[in-house]
Amino acid sequence: MTPTSYRFRGAAAALFIVPLGLAACSSHPASAPSATSSATSASSSATAAPATGGTAAPAACPTTPVNVVVSVDQWGDIASELAGKCGNVKTILASSSVDPHDYEPSPSDGAAFTGAQLVVVNGADYDPWASKLAATSAPNAPVVDAGKVTNTAEGGNPHLWYNPSAVTAVADAVTAALTKLEPKASDYFTTQRASFTTAMKPYDDLIAKIKAGASGKSYAATETVFDYQAQALGLVNKTPAGYMTASANETDPSPADIAAFTQALSNRQIDVLIYNTQTEGSIPQQLRDAATKAGVPVVDVTETVPPGKTSFEGWQDGQLTALAKALGVAV
Ligand SMILES: [Zn+2]
Repeated sequence: MTPTSYRFRGAAAALFIVPLGLAACSSHPASAPSATSSATSASSSATAAPATGGTAAPAACPTTPVNVVVSVDQWGDIASELAGKCGNVKTILASSSVDPHDYEPSPSDGAAFTGAQLVVVNGADYDPWASKLAATSAPNAPVVDAGKVTNTAEGGNPHLWYNPSAVTAVADAVTAALTKLEPKASDYFTTQRASFTTAMKPYDDLIAKIKAGASGKSYAATETVFDYQAQALGLVNKTPAGYMTASANETDPSPADIAAFTQALSNRQIDVLIYNTQTEGSIPQQLRDAATKAGVPVVDVTETVPPGKTSFEGWQDGQLTALAKALGVAV
């Protein structure tokens, strides 16, 4: 699903807070047809309800689409799926060549939040620039902050899109926020949320299968990106402690930390090495080489949605399938 970029309708008009001007520039239907439109949405939901196969043609949006600005594409795709035709979703960091951890916003990013009616950020100190820009450029827009939704402390592992229960909680929060903004599209958003659950079924099934077949097996990781997912799968983290601390603090591990990691791989004390392909530097590569040499399977994961992947679940399903294979779980 390609995020639809939107133009900022009436950006100039928005500067003049004149009620008449707003009514004129907004493309909401006049209040008169609202009874008809709610009747239409009620009947369309009745016909849309039995569409459990996930192949039904998406309904038209019964109201004006909500302008949604999302900080990073890990959540941008999810927001697009949930908003459907009732949202114009713009993702700021949609290129996997950019490391979100080190991202410095440009002046145009501030402008990108102007006109946002809903803002979605990861939070947990992952994209602090986004919350700051949103507060300045779209102060009235509600913010769905994955860190707050999941009560993740600042400084905690920020890779919340790898936490299956966080994905569910954030999806629910986005749907609730969209519905509050456009109550006339309530049925539409409910249907979109249900379609997302359907789309996530293979992901849920893969998690259940890996958990059943490989729980208690061990992994080590070049980076903390996959830790929530591994925990949900019941895998035991055998990343040497010194390396893990350095990685979490974004500092270089000591030679002793690297030696301990290489040794654990050589001794095959680890069932699978999780390798973040978006991490730069020679150390992860050195660990990968040690794993390959020892015959420890390596599973590639990425921080952000890789090019060529068209949906969050498609991205995740591919990685989980590779992991299942590495752990000898039939899926
Ligand atoms: Zn990361």
